[in-house]
Amino acid sequence: MKSSDAIVIGGGVIGCSIAYYLSKAGIKVTLLERGQIGMEASNAASGVLSTPLFKSGDPYSRMSVESLGMFPDLQQELQETCGVDIEFARCGELGLAMAEDEAGEYQDLAMKVAEAGGNARWMDFDSLHDYEPQVGPEILGGFYMPEVCRVNNQRLSLAFARSAEWQGARILQSTEVVGLVRSGLQITGVRLSDDEVYADNIIMAAGPWTRALAEGVGGDIPVRPVRGLNLNLQPVGRSFRSVIHGSLGMLVPRADGSVIAGVTVEEAGFDCRVTAGAVQEILAIVTSLVPSLRDARLNWALAGLRPGSPDDAPMMGPVPGWDGLLVATGHYRNGILLSPITGKLIADYVAGKEPELIEHFSLRRFRE
Ligand SMILES: Cc1cc2nc3c(=O)[nH]c(=O)nc-3n(C[C@H](O)[C@H](O)[C@H](O)COP(=O)(O)OP(=O)(O)OC[C@H]3O[C@@H](n4cnc5c(N)ncnc54)[C@H](O)[C@@H]3O)c2cc1C
Repeated sequence: MKSSDAIVIGGGVIGCSIAYYLSKAGIKVTLLERGQIGMEASNAASGVLSTPLFKSGDPYSRMSVESLGMFPDLQQELQETCGVDIEFARCGELGLAMAEDEAGEYQDLAMKVAEAGGNARWMDFDSLHDYEPQVGPEILGGFYMPEVCRVNNQRLSLAFARSAEWQGARILQSTEVVGLVRSGLQITGVRLSDDEVYADNIIMAAGPWTRALAEGVGGDIPVRPVRGLNLNLQPVGRSFRSVIHGSLGMLVPRADGSVIAGVTVEEAGFDCRVTAGAVQEILAIVTSLVPSLRDARLNWALAGLRPGSPDDAPMMGPVPGWDGLLVATGHYRNGILLSPITGKLIADYVAGKEPELIEHFSLRRFRE
């Protein structure tokens, strides 16, 4: 039985955004999530929305800038349709210099960015400690990037899904896709444990699990899991204004006064455990940047599997060799940032438009 024009497999931030933009365009869509909405990598993320410092015309840079630019309207739309505040804010980011050579490199970089017409500046010791009084007294200064934004990623997938439902999408949780249904070279539907569902467009957005789904029909999607860990800390007293990073660790302020502290990058296969070693590593790094965090309450620790790709860029659009099969995965460290543009591009493609950007992220680039 054909129940929709499109089926989305996977209810992470990417699948939910696709369902949102498809339903917004009036396309009948069903999203199938084997667990709960947004509880894998999309839940463990830091929520930093950061575009390249030197804006070039390359497709990745263009896509990032366009996606970031979609957030202000999106925040309003999602708030109006489902009542969820995704806490989007332009908070800026500070790179902290702990040694003289690092300070010198940041000052050079600030000059180069200014020459290129970009927006970043060096903050000396006094300005930095006035701006973020919690950073350690041995920090020499900071490289400030005012355009960096943040969002509450733990709300974003749910907001997309609820708004998609409000627009007419069917969102089914606890519903695992166990295989794809084919007829000749056409993918016509998906197999569930006890049923089959059909649609003209099947969109695989199952994060690193997309590879196994495609293998069932002989497809090769080169996505792999890259584990990352984040902690949530409740500082005693004031939090920070901006995202703060050292050469390794990162701190992201949340609207509720807590701070996301991370982050690890580990090739550990599908092992998604929170390990004691990784927690120790993060705490050592972030307390060297902000010593008062030693006193913070540890609220939670979450590990997630980023969908990595051979060139760290997403794979989007039709799967070569098959009719009716599309993919949207491989967003690696920027899936939260790139979720709005991905949803829009896939919806445009399904609606019969040929978005120029999507061609650059085709799977064909790994086969030529
Ligand atoms: C620690 C960490 C920090 C990060 N920080 C940032 C950041 O600051 N900014 C940023 O932009 N990005 C960040 N990222 C990256 C971002 O989180 C990911 O790129 C993004 O969440 C990927 O979304 P996704 O929907 O592709 O995958 P996922 O969130 O993994 O969702 C895939 C979904 O598919 C479902 N699924 C799998 N198989 C099936 C099946 N057979 N049937 C049905 N459902 C299935 C899964 O249950 C899952 O819910 C971070 C990631 C991590 C781990």
